Amino acid sequence: MNFHIALIPGDGIGPEIVEEARKVLDRVAEIYHHQFTYEKLLMGGCSIDAYGTSLTDETLARAKAADSVLLGAVGGDVGNSRWYDIDPKDRPEAGLLKIRKGLELFANIRPAYLYRELKDACPLREAIADAGFDMVIMRELTGGLYFGERKTEEINGVRRATDTLVYDENEIRRIAVKGFEIAMKRKKHLISVDKANVLDSSRLWRAVVNEVAKSYPEVTVTHMLVDNCAMQLVKDPAQFDVVLTENMFGDILSDEASMITGSIGMLSSASLGATKLGLYEPSHGSAPDIAGKNIANPIATILSAAMMLRYSFDLDQEAKAVEDAVQQVLTDGYRTSDIMAEGCKLVGTREMGDRIAERI
Ligand code: NAD
Repeated sequence: MNFHIALIPGDGIGPEIVEEARKVLDRVAEIYHHQFTYEKLLMGGCSIDAYGTSLTDETLARAKAADSVLLGAVGGDVGNSRWYDIDPKDRPEAGLLKIRKGLELFANIRPAYLYRELKDACPLREAIADAGFDMVIMRELTGGLYFGERKTEEINGVRRATDTLVYDENEIRRIAVKGFEIAMKRKKHLISVDKANVLDSSRLWRAVVNEVAKSYPEVTVTHMLVDNCAMQLVKDPAQFDVVLTENMFGDILSDEASMITGSIGMLSSASLGATKLGLYEPSHGSAPDIAGKNIANPIATILSAAMMLRYSFDLDQEAKAVEDAVQQVLTDGYRTSDIMAEGCKLVGTREMGDRIAERI
């Protein structure tokens, strides 16, 4: 099959890690007889240097025209970079918000998977880490409290602030459908997280999720209150497969789930919309402190590329081949410095990309 991929390396370690993901994609194309074409686009500080703003309308249009977008990371050393002396709307991170909005992405997926080889980095009790976990947190991205009407006023000398949490059924339905579709590609168990004992928006969320569930009889659905979910994530993370939730709950729970894996250089992510076009990127930033040294861990970006194969291109077998190759490299004892452990073999960014590509 033929796919056209927009590559946005960005700043800091971005170009180094995206290059390794491309190497792995090229290997997939070679083995499975696909054709991937690439188009490099500028976003972030490098775009400020070239065009004075972090994402031009022309670049956004090019990204929209691609089959999918793979992003490294944007931004520089915040306290020490000329990119932050300009209008906030033109700064590196403004490009991220603009591209997510421009591509109409409403669902964010962050997997949290504990590799047996890295379980010493997991901050949970040994018995819990030994059981392992493999889940995705699916967060609604464009509605809820972060986008509702807000105001701060003063009434009779007392300051008062209001935020509003609004969801309509269409916003809930479209992300629920995505959640069920992803559950169908995994273990077919979906836990919808809400606060239905208190919030009307959560009661509507629960009702719509139950309606959508009728079209996916193979998927088991349970509902969990968000406070309980926060506890269960550290008590028994192995019980989760797909966690579906609204914007603010997802913001907090996805960070909690990332934290229990313990390794920032391993965390991939995807943002999806109504079409197959998605934005795939590591969960970490541009790490300017280690840029250009060939020491960054490219695995989060490589796993993001695997998500692109699965969710945008429906190449499930190829995605699994990439994930298995990552697993095999860890089993074989190769580590970048951020995940280095005694008795393992230290490799740089490029060598890690090579080791993964040759195992596909
Ligand atoms: P960061 O994630 O870039 O780095 C935090 C720490 O983790 C650093 O010590 C870094 O060296 C390390 N690290 C991160 N990724 C790594 C990898 N792949 N391999 C090895 N070590 C890795 O977060 P930060 O320092 O808070 O932010 C740096 C810049 O990145 C800022 O300009 C920030 O705005 C930007 N940022 C961008 C994104 C994005 O593009 N999506 C996300 C977060 C932060």
